[in-house]
Parts: sequence; C-alpha cells; structure tokens
Amino acid sequence: MAEQQVLDVPAIRERLAWIQERIERACRRAGRSPDEVTLIGVTKTFPVAVVQAAYEAGLRHFGENRVQELVAKAAVLPGRIEGGEVTWHMIGHLQRNKARDVVAHADWLHSLDNLRLAETLERRAAMADRVLPCFVEVNVSGEPTKFGLEPDAVHDFLDALAPFEHLEIVGLMTLAAPAEDPEAVRPQFRLLRRLAETYDRRNNPRVQLRYLSMGMSGDFEVAIEEGATHVRIGSALFGPRLEP
Ligand SMILES: *Cc1c(COP(=O)(O)O)cnc(C)c1O
Repeated sequence: MAEQQVLDVPAIRERLAWIQERIERACRRAGRSPDEVTLIGVTKTFPVAVVQAAYEAGLRHFGENRVQELVAKAAVLPGRIEGGEVTWHMIGHLQRNKARDVVAHADWLHSLDNLRLAETLERRAAMADRVLPCFVEVNVSGEPTKFGLEPDAVHDFLDALAPFEHLEIVGLMTLAAPAEDPEAVRPQFRLLRRLAETYDRRNNPRVQLRYLSMGMSGDFEVAIEEGATHVRIGSALFGPRLEP
C-alpha cells in the first residue's frame, strides 16, 4: 500500500496561511469579519505527528470523524475538556455506544441527528457533569447515503431537544454534495442558513443557533459567503487522503 504523504511544519504553515487568506477574502466579499470563522483542520487518517505539526504551525481546532481516532490523538494533544489548549471537534457519524468517549474527550459534536443519541449523550454528559456543545446535522443535498435529518424534520427535532440540559444546541451542520463547481452547492448552504434563521425559539428557548458548520476543502469559500462560522478542512491543508 502506498504511504500517505506527511507534511512538515513549514509546509503546513504555508498551506494554513493560504487557506486563511482565502477565508479572509471570502469574508470581505460577504461583508463579514474573519473573526467570525473558525478553521477546523480535519486530520482523519493522518498520524498524530501531523496534528502536532499543525499545532506548531498555529492551528488550534481539530476535527476527526471516527471516535477511536479522536481519542487516540486527544491522548497526545488533549482538548480543552481535558485541560489542553486545543479544541477537538467530533465531526463524523456517531454510534450511541461511543457517546461516553465523545463526552470524555471531544469538546464539540457536529453530528447530532437522532433523539436516541441525544438521550444517551445527555445521560453521559450529566454523569460527567459537563455540557456538550452540539450542532444538529442536516442532509441538505438529499443524497440517500448522507447522514443527517431531512430539512423538513429539523425544527421539530430542535423542539424535542428541550429536556436535554447537558446538550447546548449551538447551530446546524451539513456536508454539501460533491461538486466540480462549488457554485452548484450554494443553494444547499443557503438552505441550512434559512433553517437556522426560521427556527421559532419559543418552542425551545435553550436552542441558540449561533453557528453554521459548513464548507470543506472544495467549497468553503462559497460556504463562508453563505454564512459559515465553522469550516472543516482536510485535504487542502494536509494533502490527499488514501482512503478505502
Ligand atoms: C473528511 C471530512 C471533512 C474534510 O474534507 P476535505 O474535503 O478533505 O476538506 C469535512 N467534514 C467532514 C464531516 C468530513 O468527514
């Protein structure tokens, strides 16, 4: 099997600067402040040495889509919940039997998408005496292979989260469909923003949809123009992944 190329600190620093410049330009086009946008480096499939190199290059937010990988990397570079200096974002689909690990090691969860998972997370977070900030994941592209709630189900789902005092619902998250031209997915980002803007908080006053987690390597500039506050960037920062 071919080895995945691992970039060193200067190479990551250079890519980081280039991504940050593109984020700033997208913000300027949209009349937004770059301070509103958090760059999450997605380190999935890369060794922990890449996380450490990115930390040295100045990155402070990291994302993983598998719990075991997040736990292993957070053991080396702990997140804030464990007294560290970085923030770990669990961005991938979550099984209920991994809820305990997420509560113990992840700072934020981007993939809340069903009530039974919310119940389990609530119980675990209460036991750990912490509040877990969560994004609700929405399937805006309509692709059957994607996780996330159907757009029509999002507002009822937010209402139903009212009893869960240890989950702080901070925003909505999505993955747009893969597209050659990122302009093609602009309506999907716009839909996510509209779902957040049209939620009636009287049904659950604890919900504050302040954030939108949307935009990846191929489409983050369009996502920012449409209001993204958290962009999740892997390959543009760390190079191509060798995935099955
Ligand atoms: C892998 C992944 C990303 C990053 O994808 P790139 O195209 O490499 O930037 C973002 N979000 C989620 C949920 C992912 O699984």
